[in-house]
Amino acid sequence: MLDTKNVKSKAGEFLTCHQEEAKLIRQANDLLTTYSNEATSESIEKLNAALPKIRDKITEQTDTQAGIIAEYAASEVEEVHKSFLDTVLAKDAAGLRPLFDKLLSQTALAEGVDEIFKYRFLSYVLQSCKFTTGEGRFRELMGVLGDRQFVVDKINYTGPKAGLADPDTDNPKSEKTNPRDKVADAKLLKDSSGNLAEFIKAKRVVNEPRTANPKRTEIRNATVLMDSSLKLLPVYYGLTGEKEVLAFTSPLFTAIHHELGHVVNSLKGQGGRKADKYMPDEAELFWLTDQEELQNISLDQYSDKAFSDELKLPERIAHGAFTSFDYATPELNEQFLQQDLKKWDQKTYKLEELRSGLLRKIKSVASKDWRPYTVSGEKPTGLQKISAVLTTLQTTRKGVLEQLAQVRNLAKASHENPSSTRTKTTSKFYEVVTAMKFGSPEDLIAADDALARAWSPLSPSQDPEPGLFTEEEVERVEASGRNPNVLTEFPRLPGE
Ligand SMILES: [Zn+2]
Repeated sequence: MLDTKNVKSKAGEFLTCHQEEAKLIRQANDLLTTYSNEATSESIEKLNAALPKIRDKITEQTDTQAGIIAEYAASEVEEVHKSFLDTVLAKDAAGLRPLFDKLLSQTALAEGVDEIFKYRFLSYVLQSCKFTTGEGRFRELMGVLGDRQFVVDKINYTGPKAGLADPDTDNPKSEKTNPRDKVADAKLLKDSSGNLAEFIKAKRVVNEPRTANPKRTEIRNATVLMDSSLKLLPVYYGLTGEKEVLAFTSPLFTAIHHELGHVVNSLKGQGGRKADKYMPDEAELFWLTDQEELQNISLDQYSDKAFSDELKLPERIAHGAFTSFDYATPELNEQFLQQDLKKWDQKTYKLEELRSGLLRKIKSVASKDWRPYTVSGEKPTGLQKISAVLTTLQTTRKGVLEQLAQVRNLAKASHENPSSTRTKTTSKFYEVVTAMKFGSPEDLIAADDALARAWSPLSPSQDPEPGLFTEEEVERVEASGRNPNVLTEFPRLPGE
């Protein structure tokens, strides 16, 4: 049990576990980043070899922390509680202590549930309070909890989850009364060019009313379901500042933070309406599921986004941007991960898609028959090198970027080394590729466009491969093929 003599060292031990977990999360995220950049069988093997150990070490920290919270609960000495919370929260916790102790006294166990789950829950809540976002939500929760109990129950495999203890009776009283404006959502998504991340950004600026349910005061107990397998490591898909999709994990106290958001919204009578959930036939908006998750993950003052900003983690894209490494999923599946990374790229900034598309387009142009447009009747050396580099196209993010850079370097070397016999077409190709940038969607679209324009007088009689060129480009090439004047510069003689 905690007493005045050991309380400081026990609080120190609690903090050491917290920091050890942060270190383990960083290790897992380094591996997940490597995998996101190099989605190969080799990196998935490394990931699957390391993650179970990392998860189990995290579980050890959690269990030690839960044990210390159990000791805290067993002590009724105010001085001990004060000293413990001040140390763990690294500040004068005079304002938070009565709230934490109130939650402790109102946390109950469902029948047959082991005590450890109660203390794990409280340990997660306390750790969240070390951060502005977590403390904000905890204060909000305690402001609406009233005399209700928090019933800790268990859930198999996945988790955690939280909500109302009697959902059948109380959920309808917890939903806001004004319906979702699906027409406005559809328009906003269209205005965001179908990009879910841009849609969410735009949504943040719209201040939508959330009319509280008048029956919210009748709501009874809340509940939290804790993972009973003790084998969970969540994997989310988020976006980096560079708009690339990244798989990442986050401490489980942030998952509890998320769940508490649902409880807060419910007790405020402002939960999302079940009737408003998007269904699979509602296209892209389905990925944002219900208004409740959108609010909780991306829009709320204390959203997951606010928390991940504070923890310097990527921003989770949407509710469905999640897979888990749990009891039922002993290892991450390479195929599923790759599909997920691709899927979230396509639903947001399409960086991977644009880079691969550009690479295929450069290859298509470089491997065309250049002989009619050269003086010697032979393919220019720089183009030969570029074609050779592109014989096998890379597929991973890192590989595609490396290949693009390689091609640009070759083009640059030729561009900076002019030849008196080089035709305008060849010069233009080197010039355009040398100027390409691959970092942002805007740069990639500009590169693609510049190449299309430079390419159009080439090989007009050959059919452009479908899918690589837009209809407009194909038309332009066909038109130039019908008009010999467009091609007046080819072939030509040196010095002309
Ligand atoms: Zn949720």
